[in-house]
Amino acid sequence: MPASSGVPRSVPAADIPADEFGLIDRFFSHLDSGPDVTLGVGDDAALLKLASGETLAVSVDTVVEGRHFPPGSNGDLVMFRAVAAAASDLAAMGARPLGMTLAVSLPVVNEDWLQACRRGLESAVQQFSLPLVGGDVTRGPLTLSVQVMGAVRSPLRRDGARPGDRLYVTASLGDAAAGLAVCEGRLRVSSPLAEVLRERFWRPQPDLDLGQRLAAVTTAGIDISDGLIADAGHLARSSGVGLRIDSAALPLSASLLDAVPREQALTWALTGGDDYVLCFTAPSAAVLPEGVHCIGEVIAGAGVECDMLTNATGYRHF
Ligand code: ADP
Ligand code: MG
Repeated sequence: MPASSGVPRSVPAADIPADEFGLIDRFFSHLDSGPDVTLGVGDDAALLKLASGETLAVSVDTVVEGRHFPPGSNGDLVMFRAVAAAASDLAAMGARPLGMTLAVSLPVVNEDWLQACRRGLESAVQQFSLPLVGGDVTRGPLTLSVQVMGAVRSPLRRDGARPGDRLYVTASLGDAAAGLAVCEGRLRVSSPLAEVLRERFWRPQPDLDLGQRLAAVTTAGIDISDGLIADAGHLARSSGVGLRIDSAALPLSASLLDAVPREQALTWALTGGDDYVLCFTAPSAAVLPEGVHCIGEVIAGAGVECDMLTNATGYRHF
């Protein structure tokens, strides 16, 4: 894998405070201001405001070195991606971001890695409007747990799709799978293109503003983390409906089509995962924000059908 810091992992830097509070102060503090934060880092718990009529949306995701990212991965990328993946769940609920907490387990105190991690954290806090209001630091295998909190009036749940609705995604699909293939040496392309695709894997761009706008006009939604077919399948099951996807309508980026033949691009778009774009359903008459792509429809029945993954006799069901 790329993105290695190349830094020895076992030598604690001399100027790092050995104590937990020094670590917290240096790497995890001063990112806790925001319009909804009454109290951030430093007390027994953070305090966040909710307006009347709002519901609290909470989600947590954990990444473990060696399982979710390769040993030696750059702290900036690992941290940004961990927050982006968690933020994507708020986007998928249509929630307004309030703040997050971060539990970190570190095998050693590695100054360079932590500084890189801090950079990833700073950009994620700013980009997703998610102040870091608390957390925990402990020793152990390298692990990051990001808990995000948001406020929502009309949540974009998975269980509201109805036959006759249309099916949409909010951005092109498959780039992150191509990026992962580049990272793992399974796909070789020119270096500028490789860089674009690696970024698409390491820096997902969930759109929290769009999620909030969609919540008002859609019937169901989910974020695509495991691949369109898999995640659309969760939406279909929760709603008690079937989904029909038209492969010709799937949005594919120019970068992806430069990198691989269309057939491979479509396969990654359908099954690749890691894109963190939204998949949602809406009545055909709904007035939707610009830039969303209709990729199919909601039908009576169960499961996800797609013409591309079929033979002449009909649809293959997932
Ligand atoms: P407690 O004893 O209440 O568990 P800690 O000593 O673990 O508190 O942490 C002190 C303060 O620092 C708390 O407000 C906690 O939320 C915050 N904190 C600890 N670790 C982190 C972290 N990784 N990121 C942000 N805030 C943190
Ligand atoms: Mg603690």
